[in-house]
Amino acid sequence: MSRKKIIAGNWKMNKTPSESAALAIACVAEFGDIADVETVICPTFTGLAVAREKIAGSKIALGAQNLHTEKNGAYTGEISGDMLKDAGCDFVIIGHSERRQYFGENEETVNKKIRAALASGLKPIVCVGETLDVRDAGGTEKLVRTQTTGALAGLTAAELSSMVIAYEPVWAIGTGRVASPAQAQEVHAWIRDELTQTLGADFASKCRIQYGGSVKADNAKEILSQPDVDGALVGGASLDAKGFAAIVKATL
Ligand code: PEP
Repeated sequence: MSRKKIIAGNWKMNKTPSESAALAIACVAEFGDIADVETVICPTFTGLAVAREKIAGSKIALGAQNLHTEKNGAYTGEISGDMLKDAGCDFVIIGHSERRQYFGENEETVNKKIRAALASGLKPIVCVGETLDVRDAGGTEKLVRTQTTGALAGLTAAELSSMVIAYEPVWAIGTGRVASPAQAQEVHAWIRDELTQTLGADFASKCRIQYGGSVKADNAKEILSQPDVDGALVGGASLDAKGFAAIVKATL
């Protein structure tokens, strides 16, 4: 089964709205016409409106980095799926390790957020991945299987058809340390096997699993050529349009 590769840029808490506009314009110039690989940029909430305007008419899709579990209400400072959809988002990142580490997110909140995203017509990019301690203790397989099933609990293959999973070893995020292609492939295969067991072989063969963790222009090709690696979720390197474009082009 051939799966269309998907490269998403997580801008994290970087770029003011005017800087976001400039970066979005540069992304359009560098790779805005590429259709053979799906591309997504995920600015901050305040950068969404300008980014939407600047990528209009290009092949680049818009994503957010987080959403709240409820549709609306007394949740000061929060943003709902309906708001993101109306702001032009197609995708939303859920359960990023920084959200798990600094904001207490866990399988239960991730599950609720996936439901909220789907209810608003957003495609979830669901992050899983182990810390270095877990890897060193030999617990990676167990953890990613648990994170995957916990996140998807009670949801059907039909409901999850738009979902993308991002395998992001925490020890490789923003550290410059990248998983070897073999390490990435091994974990992606475990995740796909877990999807086969819980949601069926047809679903598992279609679901895209991205790798994330210090992906750069010079290491992208080797990682992206692994059979179960269907794209990348890129942090730091997505803040430079030329570098990000090189990762996009490495998939072609
Ligand atoms: C990320 O934040 O999802 C990420 C993978 O970051 P970086 O590429 O900077 O390691």
